[in-house]
Amino acid sequence: MSAVNASGWKPDMGQSSEGAVPTFTGNRALMLDEALIFEVGDSETTGVDLPEVVPAAAGTAGGTTDDSGPGLRRGDGLAGLLRTSPIGLPGLSEPETVRHYTRLSRQNYAIDLGLFPLGSCTMKHNPRLNEKVARMPGFADVHPLQPVDTVQGALGVINELAVWLIKLTGMHGVAMTPKAGAHGELCGILCIKAALDARGETGRNVILVPESAHGTNPATAAFAGYKVENIPATAAGRVDLEALTARLGPDVAGVMITNPNTCGLFERDMKAISDAVHAAGGYVYCDGANFNAIVGRVRPGDLGIDAMHINLHKTFSTPHGGGGPGSGPVVLSEALSPYGPLPFTERHADGHITLVEEETVEDRHPHSFGRMCAFHGQMGMFTRALTYILSHGADGLRQASGDAVLNANYILRSLEDVLDAPFADSGPCMHEALFSDEGFPDGFSTLDVAKGLIDEGFHPMTVYFPLVVHGAMLVEPTETESKANLDQFIGALRAVAERARAGDVALKSAPHFAPRRRLDETLAARKPVLTWRPRDVAPA
Ligand SMILES: *Cc1c(COP(=O)(O)O)cnc(C)c1O
Repeated sequence: MSAVNASGWKPDMGQSSEGAVPTFTGNRALMLDEALIFEVGDSETTGVDLPEVVPAAAGTAGGTTDDSGPGLRRGDGLAGLLRTSPIGLPGLSEPETVRHYTRLSRQNYAIDLGLFPLGSCTMKHNPRLNEKVARMPGFADVHPLQPVDTVQGALGVINELAVWLIKLTGMHGVAMTPKAGAHGELCGILCIKAALDARGETGRNVILVPESAHGTNPATAAFAGYKVENIPATAAGRVDLEALTARLGPDVAGVMITNPNTCGLFERDMKAISDAVHAAGGYVYCDGANFNAIVGRVRPGDLGIDAMHINLHKTFSTPHGGGGPGSGPVVLSEALSPYGPLPFTERHADGHITLVEEETVEDRHPHSFGRMCAFHGQMGMFTRALTYILSHGADGLRQASGDAVLNANYILRSLEDVLDAPFADSGPCMHEALFSDEGFPDGFSTLDVAKGLIDEGFHPMTVYFPLVVHGAMLVEPTETESKANLDQFIGALRAVAERARAGDVALKSAPHFAPRRRLDETLAARKPVLTWRPRDVAPA
């Protein structure tokens, strides 16, 4: 048990550069060892001076204040709900509070701090222009219940973004309200369900999902009440077209396919897959989270796709990580558009924009399956995404996807001599490079490489996903990294991979320079400790 000294610092909480000179505080220069806020402050102290509270006399008329004395006098107007025991919150002054959270924030990795190589997540730079526009009062201060005539500008943003998304994807309609990729998946699958119901085909209860699918795909299909069946992958990392067509039949509602897929490869058979699924009476859902790789180059509508979510927070740069916010509009084919959710915007010939909120307005849109959320979606993310799109223009978006793919291929080819690249022979990758742990000596794993990267000052790449590759390492640099940044990252990953190959035991206990060492991630995920309880503390 570590001691807490008078200022709340804990001298020995596992600062980890062994061999280094010990410090009184446990700090290493600017790497501060910050105690929990409950340990920094305590409920007996407070950061502000308040006048003594005069206890209420029993039977005082409810809720009156007595301004004859300094104290605020409360009667029993709270119907006996007056607190009788301490609330248990730590008391801190404003500077103590600000310092605590600022210190914690410095222990966090952020896109504004360095390259964020998380494959599948598309962590790209968020231009400050987006933030500036999103904070303009006409966008930031609107309320979803304001009369439509007073929010024409905000509705214009939603409408214009919708037009861009339809154009970029070559689709027929778009549902703007889903609030994340997974929410968009649910929206698309509910459209498919509504379309099948409208055809009276309630017996179609299976959704086919490739082995390499993102976990949200089977989860969505199951949540919507479908049975999920796997489609195997070929040795080249793509959907096995033959196996898929063989499984199609009158019980299949549709397929959910990620393209580009989670191995970082373009599904070249996508059009053939769509044609086969349509011929068998099903619909095609495409997970469009990887749209960043193909914007301006491929239109999903041309590939026969019926529904696809777009992660605005990945492809169009709106900030995410740490749990949100996201935005997952779903583009829809002509066949599925009638079933899309409400509300949606409609621009009239005179430029006025209205919101279609009811299923029966003049008998239009009577087939909508309903709503995905109470209001109109993530307004702040719409504003940022449209700002990003307009500031790039169609040509700039096309260049961004090209640069993202180029950067990923640069990483793939620069590291394939030290890391096994299982699909390197399948041709160029798309926006992410996939490696495996093949060739590491016994006892060394992908996890060791990820932890080693932390000591090098980088956030680790995505690990152990996709599941089809043993010990997967999925690296997505995005288009926003310069060659110099990529070279530094490649150098770091190469050095760590070489240490793993050489069986360097020090790597087994990395990270050595982070505030904490190896945590039990499984325990933390399965049994998170989210509340603090006082415990005995040894005297300093
Ligand atoms: C991120 C992602 C999703 C889920 O999107 P969320 O916005 O996190 O719900 C689905 N599929 C793939 C391939 C993804 O990368």
